[in-house]
Amino acid sequence: MRKKIPLHTQIIIGLVLGLIFGLLVIKSSIPNSYTLDYIKPIGTIFINALKMIAVPLVLSSLIVGVSNLGDVSKLSRIGGKTIGIYLCTTVLAISIGLLLVNVFKPGKSLPTETRENLMTLYQGDAGSKVGLASEIKEQSPLQPVIDIVPENIFQATTDNAAMLQVVFFALIVGVALLKIQKSKADPIIAFFDGFNDVIIQIVNYIMMVAPYGVFALMASLIVEIAGENPDSAVQLLLALLKYSLVVLGGLFLMVLVIYPAILIAFTKVPYKDFFKAIRPAQLLAFTTSSSSATLPVTMKQAEEEIGVSENISSFVLPLGATVNMDGTSLYQGVAAVFIAQALGMELSLTQQLMIVLTATLASIGSAGVPGAGLIMLIIVLESIQVPAAGIALIIAPDRILDMFRTVVNVTGDVVVCTVVASTEGELPEGLIRKSNPFTANE
Ligand code: ASP
Repeated sequence: MRKKIPLHTQIIIGLVLGLIFGLLVIKSSIPNSYTLDYIKPIGTIFINALKMIAVPLVLSSLIVGVSNLGDVSKLSRIGGKTIGIYLCTTVLAISIGLLLVNVFKPGKSLPTETRENLMTLYQGDAGSKVGLASEIKEQSPLQPVIDIVPENIFQATTDNAAMLQVVFFALIVGVALLKIQKSKADPIIAFFDGFNDVIIQIVNYIMMVAPYGVFALMASLIVEIAGENPDSAVQLLLALLKYSLVVLGGLFLMVLVIYPAILIAFTKVPYKDFFKAIRPAQLLAFTTSSSSATLPVTMKQAEEEIGVSENISSFVLPLGATVNMDGTSLYQGVAAVFIAQALGMELSLTQQLMIVLTATLASIGSAGVPGAGLIMLIIVLESIQVPAAGIALIIAPDRILDMFRTVVNVTGDVVVCTVVASTEGELPEGLIRKSNPFTANE
């Protein structure tokens, strides 16, 4: 039998070919509309399919995850531990972002005149994202907390951006299942358990087309970006480049230094094996820019390749996909200070501390969908009295940065999941599986 190329290699091939294809299209005389009309839809179908299973997966895995914890005291221990570590990594990420942006000052390189022009410009409205932003501007900084409780759970399940509400509902159902009579709870748990397996099986089907989906996403992204009119001033572009490099530097620091350090300190999992195990999830996070869409694969890799018990992964990961966003919070810290610098505003220490608080809230409130972090950035800007419309400044490179920060978001979730599993004794030593479950299934 012919040897199969492992799935993650296929995905990388799809990604690189998509990139090359996109570049060839914009260099050639082939109209961009061909790619957008016929290639892009393949990527859209792929993302839709992943999103299609995101809500049912979060519902079933969290309900089963919580009810499998057995009793409320175990739930509160593991839940407390998970949320505590999630908060610590988030605050650490923001602090790294703030440190870097204060050291490298990417926004300060702009001439005073450009800064003044920008300030005048951003006092008005500057685009649809900004329009949306002004709605958020009116809200209290605690709005992300208020939004956790859905008015209508059925409505919440039809909106991918309301995933935190679905998480909340699933947690409550799980807790209630632990409290009611066992004979009544068991059939409900069994139902969701079976349902969960069905969803995981669907993930296998979707992953078979992942390389094609990733190819299409990359190709159309390149064509679309090149189609936009780069009319900004050179200085602004350079400042934006510097800003992007600071964000990327922080994100790389998280993945290459902080996470390995956490793994070494709290688990026995060799980080090289760890990163190899989660590579398919990272690649998907990169191409979809969505933690929620990546969740099924994140769970699969954590369970089948790292060996985290289903008990832990089905609780920690769906929660993390919506509330733990280290990459997003780091980016929000850098972006807020960059915008302030670009507009010529000096931020006091209190304002910087305010960023830590609000970026934590904002990243918790950001849905695991593309661009969510950008919108929630408004909360951070408002808290430090920087014009919210300033986000227009950083919209251009946002799509690319979103890809990288989503990788960090997903990686952070699995790191915390591995730590929780390891400290709970739910991670058999040396159980990193060498085989790839996807190729094994094929
Ligand atoms: N796209 C990110 C995620 O899904 C959220 C964001 O930062 O926009 O994790």
